[in-house]
Amino acid sequence: MNQGHKILVVGSANTDMVIRVEKFPAPGETLSGHNFLLNAGGKGANQAVAAARLGGKVAMMARLGNDLFGKQTIENFKKEGLNVEGVVLDNKLPSGVAQIVVDKSGENTIVVAGGSNLALNTRQVNKYYSLVQEAEVILLQLEVPMETVLYVAQKATGLGKKVILNPAPANKLSDKLYASIYAITPNETETKFLTGINITGEKSAQHAADFFHDKGVKVVIITLGAAGAFLSTPDYSGTIATSEVEAVDTTAAGDTFNGALATALSNKMDWEEAVAFANKAASLSVTKHGAQASVPFLKDLNV
Ligand code: AMP
Repeated sequence: MNQGHKILVVGSANTDMVIRVEKFPAPGETLSGHNFLLNAGGKGANQAVAAARLGGKVAMMARLGNDLFGKQTIENFKKEGLNVEGVVLDNKLPSGVAQIVVDKSGENTIVVAGGSNLALNTRQVNKYYSLVQEAEVILLQLEVPMETVLYVAQKATGLGKKVILNPAPANKLSDKLYASIYAITPNETETKFLTGINITGEKSAQHAADFFHDKGVKVVIITLGAAGAFLSTPDYSGTIATSEVEAVDTTAAGDTFNGALATALSNKMDWEEAVAFANKAASLSVTKHGAQASVPFLKDLNV
């Protein structure tokens, strides 16, 4: 069923299994933890859910295991109002999971098993190609195979779509990929990884943005945590501040930012307005615990 989406997210979905402990176990040690939490996660899924909660019309292309977690994830997507035509249950691989242990100081250790996410291949993209053709904005991250990311970016750009790449988790990007995306949205750590430049202020942010522009990327948005985001386009360059909030958990702040950005663009906001909207949504997400649990709805934004 086609719900007339404007945004397509091609990316990962994971189930996060979280246990809180007093202290981390040593190798070979068994510890009793506090309560166990099962949370929907994965950067692709988080960003799709954020875009939808903020008013976007969103289709998700993902690959889940044909198991308990996969079935739960697809139900969650439907509940969030995503078009799930392009979500496939893989009969061979298990769903992606992340085992997260959080100690009492809030420090965490995370082990991710990508599972079926790593089998989201170009064949799947071809099978559901109409989802690419019908979208206006395509949102990509790096938790599915790089070959698939490049393929979608090249095809979508060829069709005149706006492709946004959130280069997370940080990974080396080819010149071909840079040449086939419209916008890139690294945080400070990813910017350092990709450009070698430490962001210490606007001058270094512009310097890093120019690195991406020289590779052919038209719009660069470097997220700066509590300082908001630096935007560089052919007509604008500067930092767009975010709201001051009491941060309790920054999990999924970047995902909320990217989902919100896609929604804003699909609603024809210009880049400055879109970044301000994304800042507003992301700043609200840091006032709540959890990943998808912290993603706000449009009504929470008072815009
Ligand atoms: P980051 O990935 O840390 O750069 O955060 C992404 C976005 O989340 C930022 O661009 C801000 O809009 C928002 N954000 C992150 N941390 C905070 C914070 N402490 N206070 C307000 N907004 C934040």
